[in-house]
Amino acid sequence: MFEYQAPENLLRDRIILVTGAGSGIGRTAAKTFAAYGATVILLGRTLEKLEQVYDEIEAAGHPQPALVPLNLESAQEHDFVELTNTLEQEFGHIDGILHNASLLGVRTPIESYDPVIWQQVMQVNLNAPFLLTQILMPLLDKAENASIVFTSSTVGRKGRAYWGAYGISKFATEGLMQTLADELETTSNIRTNCINPGATRTQMRANAYPAENPASVASPEDIMPLYLYLMGSDSLEVNGQSLDAQ
Ligand code: NAP
Repeated sequence: MFEYQAPENLLRDRIILVTGAGSGIGRTAAKTFAAYGATVILLGRTLEKLEQVYDEIEAAGHPQPALVPLNLESAQEHDFVELTNTLEQEFGHIDGILHNASLLGVRTPIESYDPVIWQQVMQVNLNAPFLLTQILMPLLDKAENASIVFTSSTVGRKGRAYWGAYGISKFATEGLMQTLADELETTSNIRTNCINPGATRTQMRANAYPAENPASVASPEDIMPLYLYLMGSDSLEVNGQSLDAQ
C-alpha cells in the first residue's frame, strides 16, 4: 500500500472536482477529500447516488459539496462550458480534478469487440476527461497550485487479452497525462499524474472478476493515502508520474 499520513487539514479551502463520485472509489475519494477539508464537486450520472454522498458529507459536518449530475457519455462541449461558468461564479477557481469515472465495457477479443461499446468506453474514459480538462484549464490556472489526477489501470500499462477498449483507453489516459504534464511542467502551477488503484472492492471489480471473493481485495478506503497525497501540497513537485495506490 502507498504509505502517506495526511495532516488533518491537508485539503482545507481546496475546491476539488471528482467524476464518478456516486459510487465505488470516486464516492470514497469525495468523502475522504471532504473529511480533510475540501469542498468537493460531485459529478456523476446518477443523481440519487450523488445526493446520498452529498447528504453523508453534510451530515459529517464537512464543507458543503456541490452537485453536478452529468452523463459523460452524452455530455457535449457546451455542458462543460456551462459547468465551468457555474464553477467560476461560485468559486472563482478550482484546485483539483480527480478523473475517476470509467466504463468497463465488455471483456472480449478485439476481433469481436462491438464497435458501439468501443465508442462508449472511449467517450467516458478518454474523450470526456480530455475535454473536461481542456475547458476547466483556465479555472485550474487561477489556483495557487492545482492537481489533475487521472485514473489508470494495470491493463493500461501492458496490454492484456480481452480487456479491449477499457485497457486501451487507460493506455491513452497515461499518454494524455504524460503529454499534459510535459506541457505544463515549466509553464504553469498545474501538476498532472495518474493513479493505478490496483484491485479494489467495487462494482466494477465484481463485474470484471465475478468469481472473486470481494473480501480478498482492498477496500476503497484502504487506497486513499495516494489520493490524498496527490491532491495535497506534499506532492507539489510530483508531475508526470503514474503511481500505484497499492
Ligand atoms: P465503479 O464502481 O464502476 O464506479 C465507476 C463510477 O463511474 C460510478 O460512479 C459511475 O456512475 C461512474 N460513471 C460511469 N459511467 C459514467 C458516465 N457515463 N458519466 C458519469 N459517470 C459515470 O468503478 P470503480 O472500481 O470505483 O473505478 C473507479 C476508477 O478506478 C475507474 O477509472 C476504474 O477504471 C479504475 N480502476 C478500478 C479498479 C478496481 O479494482 N476497482 C482497478 C483499476 C482501475 P454510476 O454509479 O452512476 O454508475
